[in-house]
Amino acid sequence: MAEIINGKIVSQKLREDIKREVDLFVEKRGYAPGLAVIVVGNDPASAVYVRNKHRACGEVGITSYQIELPEDTTESELLAKISELNHDDKVSGILVQLPLPSGIDEKRVINSISPEKDVDAFHPINVGKITIGDYDFLPCTPSGIMTLLDYYGVEIAGKRCVVIGRSNIVGKPMALLLTERHGTVTLCHSRTTGLASICREADIIVVAIGRAGFLTADMVKPGAVVIDVGINRLDNGKLCGDVDFDYVSDVASMITPVPGGVGPMTITTLLKNTLLAAKLKNK
Ligand code: NAP
Repeated sequence: MAEIINGKIVSQKLREDIKREVDLFVEKRGYAPGLAVIVVGNDPASAVYVRNKHRACGEVGITSYQIELPEDTTESELLAKISELNHDDKVSGILVQLPLPSGIDEKRVINSISPEKDVDAFHPINVGKITIGDYDFLPCTPSGIMTLLDYYGVEIAGKRCVVIGRSNIVGKPMALLLTERHGTVTLCHSRTTGLASICREADIIVVAIGRAGFLTADMVKPGAVVIDVGINRLDNGKLCGDVDFDYVSDVASMITPVPGGVGPMTITTLLKNTLLAAKLKNK
């Protein structure tokens, strides 16, 4: 039976460290780091994510500014709001909750966030910096996964790593970070042929595709480390990942559960990035 990589416990420990650092920051500067979260429209999933982020900020002493804009907000109104936040000294980090309503150009919105406040690390300048290994911010989910791998002492150098999913927010940066740490990485997607046999060669597999139970036990080499990024809601309302957990956990040496694996690390890394943004501004 695989060892469970417990994102909740690691996350809790990290949040205690972040809280201590935020307290020191406040003592020194007289104000707290601030995170502005903009949500446009009434997407119920976005509302949950935004609420969780707000709660997490409160836990560590970061001031959270929730900006809720109506569904019919125009792109120029949203850009004007971002520009205002870019110039607001109380705001260390800005995050725009995706997806945005149709009619608003996501790319233009992301590009308008000041790179120094881009705590999601989605701005092209930050993406470029990550590519050349000279960055301040890392995207929250892949960075949180690297923290988990380190915490559990998973060796990456020289290991075969397979990342399934090539999104800009998870798969691609994940492949870059594992490469930076000297893993030999194969990045797979929906057009990959022979995916199962590629997976069977992996020492570390990261699955981020959004298909319940996609990674089955026959795709996993005995002893591999399996990281499940997927969040899928089943018909019975339960959450599950992209990994067929019950069977894969008999084969893998370590595995993340869903929920309680990668998810908590994503928000914790957002808090870490916000604190970092505040510190860099005050350097
Ligand atoms: P996305 O933008 O929808 O990308 C999905 C990727 O999966 C694409 O690259 C797609 O390939 C690939 N894919 C789809 N079906 C596949 C298949 N049958 N075989 C191989 N590859 C396949 O997704 P995302 O934003 O990266 O999110 C992925 C999952 O992670 C979702 O469930 C999301 O909710 C979850 N997520 C969780 C967290 C967290 O904190 N835990 C954070 C972010 C996302 P193509 O490029 O060829 O289309």
